[in-house]
Amino acid sequence: MNQEIHRSIVIGSGPAGYTAALYLGRANIPPLVFEGQQPGGQLTITTEVENYPGFPEGIDGPTLTQKFREQAARFGTEIVGKTVDSVDLSERPFKVVVGEETYLSQSVIIATGSSARWLGLPEENDFHGKGLSACATCDGFFFRDHEIAVVGGGDTAMEEAMYLTNFATKVTVIHRRDELRASKIMGERALANEKIDFAWNKTVKRLVAGEKGLLEKLILADTQGGDDVELPVTGCFVAIGHVPNTQFLNGQLPTNENGYLITRPDVTATDIEGVWACGDVQDHVYRQAITAAGTGCMSAIECERRLGEQGL
Ligand code: NAP
Repeated sequence: MNQEIHRSIVIGSGPAGYTAALYLGRANIPPLVFEGQQPGGQLTITTEVENYPGFPEGIDGPTLTQKFREQAARFGTEIVGKTVDSVDLSERPFKVVVGEETYLSQSVIIATGSSARWLGLPEENDFHGKGLSACATCDGFFFRDHEIAVVGGGDTAMEEAMYLTNFATKVTVIHRRDELRASKIMGERALANEKIDFAWNKTVKRLVAGEKGLLEKLILADTQGGDDVELPVTGCFVAIGHVPNTQFLNGQLPTNENGYLITRPDVTATDIEGVWACGDVQDHVYRQAITAAGTGCMSAIECERRLGEQGL
């Protein structure tokens, strides 16, 4: 066991985690940041970010993430490219378990974000890497001149559909209602795009393989009670929202019915003294890079003040 007792550990490396680290570093509490399985979080699989203030021309997600990272590192943050397996929050110092190692810390900031939600079909696992994806920026390139589908009606689905028109000859957006959830501007852009079709009131009922197990078509169910229809596509991009990453907590902190961590009103403190949560792991309302950064800042300031009050 590594017996050093850290003053603060940040778990997660999206805008929330790096902003918390930046503020802690500048408050002379440079934390350890565990980057996790997807360093940089969801921004790294986003194309153009047009709504992060300070970048009037827009900025791509990976570049923005790199800037967050460098800024956090500049003030002493130690960034560790490992994933936290579990934590023990039952007493201070808290224990953070990473593989064989256990790290001790007087405070923990949870900024683990959320991960893509999948369709929940039994055959889904057979199609990863064979036509099914949740990341257009990662996999779009493989579908040059193909006809493909995007599932979902939110901003992510619109963004992915538009991005995929750079490769595909046609993109069909499959949405379970007849009205988009996406913001007006994103919805209008997608609706105006000639390469994008919409399959309204439809859900994916089955993924069907062709040669070599590669996706060949989708069977779509009609949410209004109509007949099933076939959609021949070689790619299906799932963009139906996210699930907060709280598994490693093993139920030590309360969540709402959708699995988001509950923080106290107006602050980012959790029910456990010395533990804060920020970003998408606790935000089921806004879920933006800028709000994640904002709550990361809140966690750091709350943490700094509390550690100061407690003389830790
Ligand atoms: P979202 O807004 O929660 O939308 C999820 C979509 O998937 C909804 O249309 C939902 O349908 C559909 N859906 C959910 N479960 C489904 C299921 N089991 N089967 C079929 N469809 C299902 O998620 P998001 O699009 O990932 O966006 C998350 C947040 O990030 C939002 O706040 C969004 O504004 C933001 N965002 C912003 C940008 C940008 O500004 N550049 C880009 C991406 C995301 P219903 O509509 O029927 O519920």
